Amino acid sequence: MKIVHMYLNVLEVSEAVPAWDGFLRLGFFLVLIAMIVMMLHRRYAKVKVASGFDVVAVNLEAEGKRYDFNDIAGNIEAKESVNDIVDYLRDPEKYKAYGARMPKGILLHGKPGTGKTLMAKAMAGEAGVPFYAVSGSDFVQMYVGVGAARVRELFKKARDAGGGVIFIDEIDALGKKRSDGLSGNDEREQTLNALLTEMQGFSDGAGIVVIAATNRPDTLDEALMRPGRFDRRVEVGLPDLAARKQILALHAKNKPLSKMTNMEKLAVDTVFFSGAMLEGLLNDAAINAAKRGGGNIEPEDISTAYYTALAGSEKKDRSGIRQKERAVTAWHESGHALAATLLNPENRVAKVTIIPSAGGAGGFCANIPAERMYWTKRELEEQIMINLAGRAAEELHFGIDGVTTGASNDIEKATQTALQYVAKFGMGEGLLDRLALKDDQNINKECADLINRLYDETRVLLKENYPAMEALVEGLLENETLDGDEVREILSAATPTQ
Ligand code: ADP
Ligand code: ZN
Repeated sequence: MKIVHMYLNVLEVSEAVPAWDGFLRLGFFLVLIAMIVMMLHRRYAKVKVASGFDVVAVNLEAEGKRYDFNDIAGNIEAKESVNDIVDYLRDPEKYKAYGARMPKGILLHGKPGTGKTLMAKAMAGEAGVPFYAVSGSDFVQMYVGVGAARVRELFKKARDAGGGVIFIDEIDALGKKRSDGLSGNDEREQTLNALLTEMQGFSDGAGIVVIAATNRPDTLDEALMRPGRFDRRVEVGLPDLAARKQILALHAKNKPLSKMTNMEKLAVDTVFFSGAMLEGLLNDAAINAAKRGGGNIEPEDISTAYYTALAGSEKKDRSGIRQKERAVTAWHESGHALAATLLNPENRVAKVTIIPSAGGAGGFCANIPAERMYWTKRELEEQIMINLAGRAAEELHFGIDGVTTGASNDIEKATQTALQYVAKFGMGEGLLDRLALKDDQNINKECADLINRLYDETRVLLKENYPAMEALVEGLLENETLDGDEVREILSAATPTQ
């Protein structure tokens, strides 16, 4: 029984939003297979490795694919802050003549899917220079020396070509802080040193720019950021409303969208989506439409894709579900929906359903938080309360012994948020002094106190509005799914005084 937590995106939780659980599991499986294949490959490719490494970097120009800034929607500040680099790549001599020293390395940082890779490709494309790409994670678990050789090979290629963009994705896999004392990963350090040496080595007029990307800039070794290394940092952020509109429009260009499509609303509903998620959403909608075969992509295709992205696809065979379980789910989801609405109408409930998902959730409540940059202390508390409201509703109706395992996902999310509330944002009782001490025991206790306090508050809130919750449950049992307007209608009918 999922509640959709797009807000976690904004709190920099490194774990995936629940929406992507299914993908993650699939992804994990694919990664496992890839690793096995790679291991086998390496075993049989040893000779090749020893005799000059085969650079896997791609030259996109050779592939005939070329990106430019028109392929990037939004991200205006980021584009502007690399404009001079593009100009330098076009004509390095010009800058040399003026004695200007351009950054050799640029660090693009931002959440996954915000278009960092795209930005690097577009810079190469704009400047008309080759693009070479590797990923930091490729270097992990290599034979000692192989990574370093590969880095040197990469730079040699770029030098021989007369310049270009060298892109290193996931630089954090390579350049993690060494302060932990137990790093001892020789391979990683050798590779990193090779990289720094190479960067030191090419001259200012070489027309080479190294672009590194990470979603965890805080974990990077300071040494990477010194002058002459990655001394320009550019943030690539999640798209705001206007940017989401542009990204959707860009990726809709080659798709037969029906006239009924409301892109404006879709942009509003996709708050906290990354560019990659928006692209994926339209692509899934196109797949839905193609399967159906109606000629156009209809609004239903998009909304199916949207809710699948948030909560997973619906379970096809629902014959095994017992009446009692439907009722549990109805109470649980009504609790989420009611708490979200009562706490702050800006938490717009978009859909509540007791149709189970293929991934095993009994149903879900999608609530779309308002667009924002910062969260107040109380707003975070409210998010925790919304998380806990499913369990609280179960308890209120079925009694303390009747609560179910359906709240596990909610509890996990509430815990994550509570931990960040205390340990990251310093909003707990003990505040900052204890943070500095990294006093885990106290942090844990504060989290527990916070969650207990908010759980009590949630129970009181739901109890006071029991008739409204009952009305929602009835509506759900009857219709299985309610959209946001239906939820608000039921709630205002059940609470005439408000
Ligand atoms: P990152 O490297 O930050 O993880 P990517 O550059 O790999 O993200 O983005 C993946 C895909 O998402 C891109 O190829 C593109 O289709 C889409 N995308 C992401 N950001 C944007 C954007 N600002 N404009 C257009 N498309 C975008
Ligand atoms: Zn729940």
